[in-house]
Amino acid sequence: MDGRIVLKRDREKPVQQRHPWIFSGAIDRVESDAPNGALVQVVDYQGNYLATGYLNRRSQIVVRLLTWDVDEQVDTAFWQRRLEQAIAARTLPAGTDACRLVYAEADRLPGLVVDRYGDWLVMQCLTAGMASRRDEIAGLLAELLSPAGIYARDDADVRRQEGLALETGPLWGAEPPDLVEIEEHGHRFLVDVKRGQKTGFYLDQRENRRATAAYCEGARVLNAFSYTGAFGVYAGRAGAASVINVDSSAQALTLAQENVVLNGCQPQEMVVGDVFQVLRRYRDESREFDVIVLDPPKFAVSQAQLVGATRGYKDINMLALQLLRPGGFLVTFSCSGRVTADLFQKIVFGASLDAGREAQIVEYLRQAPDHPVLLTFPESAYLKGFVCRVADR
Ligand code: SAH
Repeated sequence: MDGRIVLKRDREKPVQQRHPWIFSGAIDRVESDAPNGALVQVVDYQGNYLATGYLNRRSQIVVRLLTWDVDEQVDTAFWQRRLEQAIAARTLPAGTDACRLVYAEADRLPGLVVDRYGDWLVMQCLTAGMASRRDEIAGLLAELLSPAGIYARDDADVRRQEGLALETGPLWGAEPPDLVEIEEHGHRFLVDVKRGQKTGFYLDQRENRRATAAYCEGARVLNAFSYTGAFGVYAGRAGAASVINVDSSAQALTLAQENVVLNGCQPQEMVVGDVFQVLRRYRDESREFDVIVLDPPKFAVSQAQLVGATRGYKDINMLALQLLRPGGFLVTFSCSGRVTADLFQKIVFGASLDAGREAQIVEYLRQAPDHPVLLTFPESAYLKGFVCRVADR
């Protein structure tokens, strides 16, 4: 142990309730000379042990907690145990070889994300504590899973808040090819694990893509914020009459095109553009769709952006509702943690009033089970959505 963190008086409750974060405001003093990333004990203002975690003085979250048991050593065996537990908790659906193996705080491994893409692993260390143990963790993953290789995607923006540089590169074993082919519910996708968004693919939408496919037979589908076309491929395979994929990234759409071909789908239209503008243009042209998917990026990264984000969500949902035929389906998502499921439903309610379209929610959607929500860490719930049926006129 490299020192201790003494909390202010009456600040121990969240720790006792096992929330894994200690914010700077709760801390009376840091009694440690150890470098950021080192292990520390957290004690209450009277010096009673509360928990053990790793330190980063540069972050607003000064300690991330690992254990509440004073006798549990945080050593190699500890990391191995936690990794084994996370991996054992995953069950892959049939025809699927890609999933999130470690979802950070929610898997009691704060700051660590590990995704599996077929034989390859992609690893993200998002905090100083994990970054300083990167090679040890990679070694353990290699032993546990014998992957072809492990690649680091340490280029997530949140690393800046920890004072960490952004970098990528092979960590263990062979370097993955530029495109790794994966399977999801029997659909095949090419994933750019080295340069793609996040770690290459939006694994959290796996079950929602399958749910959406059920509405797509014979449908004219608009897949907005398509990235590499995953929802579009499911729609195509489900027998959609037509699919338009819209994304601002030309690179993502190039890959979407390859994914359409790889799955033997009918040709799909790829539109490089801003969804806000494309939806407006389609509305002005009186276009009509049977199914519209809205899967925008995180509009609210900080609390300060919440109002603007709300406006953004309302705008695209209003436009999409106007573009749907009576009886058509809106499949709409928000992945902003700060936008709760309640708030999101209210936003779409507002959008439906503005659009002059009544709609019924017929299905609620959430992040896939390999992105679990830890009850003591409600922040791990972030993706919410629903399927709305536009009322008949
Ligand atoms: N539905 C996708 C994931 C979408 S991620 C899937 O299942 O894989 C969000 C996508 O929105 C990203 O690909 C990003 O390039 C795109 N994007 C962000 N802002 C945009 C905008 N204003 N207009 C169009 N696309 C946008």
